Amino acid sequence: MRVAGTELRVHGTFLVLLAWVGLARWREAGWLGALEAVVFVCLIFGCVVLHEFGHALAARRFGIATPQITLLPIGGVALLERIPEKPVQEVCVALAGPAVNVLIAALLMGWISLTGGFPGVDAVSPPTVDLPVRLLGVNVWLVLFNLIPAFPMDGGRVLRALLALGTTHNRATQIAAGIGQFIAVVFGVLGLLSNPMLILIALFIYFGAASEATLAQVRAVSSGLRVDAVTVTGAQSLRMGSTLDDAVELLLRTSQKDFPVVDDSGAVQGLLSAGDLILALRRSPPQTPVCEVMRLGIPCVPQSMLFESAFRLLQESNSPALAVLDEQNRFVGLFTPENIGELLMVEDALASGSNPSHFPHPASPLGKGTA
Ligand SMILES: [Zn+2]
Repeated sequence: MRVAGTELRVHGTFLVLLAWVGLARWREAGWLGALEAVVFVCLIFGCVVLHEFGHALAARRFGIATPQITLLPIGGVALLERIPEKPVQEVCVALAGPAVNVLIAALLMGWISLTGGFPGVDAVSPPTVDLPVRLLGVNVWLVLFNLIPAFPMDGGRVLRALLALGTTHNRATQIAAGIGQFIAVVFGVLGLLSNPMLILIALFIYFGAASEATLAQVRAVSSGLRVDAVTVTGAQSLRMGSTLDDAVELLLRTSQKDFPVVDDSGAVQGLLSAGDLILALRRSPPQTPVCEVMRLGIPCVPQSMLFESAFRLLQESNSPALAVLDEQNRFVGLFTPENIGELLMVEDALASGSNPSHFPHPASPLGKGTA
């Protein structure tokens, strides 16, 4: 669904949440209870969508488009085309979301007081409390929760912008992400003790902070770099007619792990990773042509593309590598996460000068460095 140039996407798990809520209430309170619960959840997520459109509207004022808003069971995510350069603008965009919920809460307050005020606390039990009152509570909670300074939540973005006033954007992001991950760990522990939903939110914050921190670092070291500056040239490729046997030979002979499959004109038709190859060998005979087991739809990028754009594309795709093409659309090399890691290490060593052993590792889920 598209609204004002923004695509609204609903994640599949959100429908699972709706079904689960409906089923749980149906067992307790029958069809009417189930319907009421589903409507209530939809209303909550309506408020979340309006919150995300608050961000999108504020971003548009600074000339930044929001191509996509995604609805997840734990909330919404507005994907901005880019992050505002000026810290003041980032603060405005970050606060516009919670401001929408303040507005909704104020409207609900007005509605409730016009229609007879708040019911007494003991007059009704929670499930039958007026819908507007419950919705008011949800919006107050959305405001407070989003203002917790756990980057990449709204409060954390405000924190990052404030930090960026005194240091570089990258440094500010690293600090804010560190604080965000600390808060995420606290949430995770609290979630284990009380509410499992909190664990999901903690994971979302933890990995969100890690990926934004990496992105900021990549952006800092790669500004102006083109894809061909880091492409592994001379990468070996397979032909459409090559067999699994040929692929095994290439795998053993080279240090390469991903092999593009090219047709006679040199165009990339697919990719065979070492993992794909091992899986295929378990199921199929060694004479099977690679084109039967390769991954299709490998993202291809021109070698003149900016590094940052290619990095984002690689992150968003499920592909282990991007195929880099020349002007005639012929395969010239691969753009892989390993090259990016190496670039980050080299740049970091150059930047820290006398202390080349110091590499800040983006935290991996296992707590090990990723050098
Ligand atoms: Zn927000």
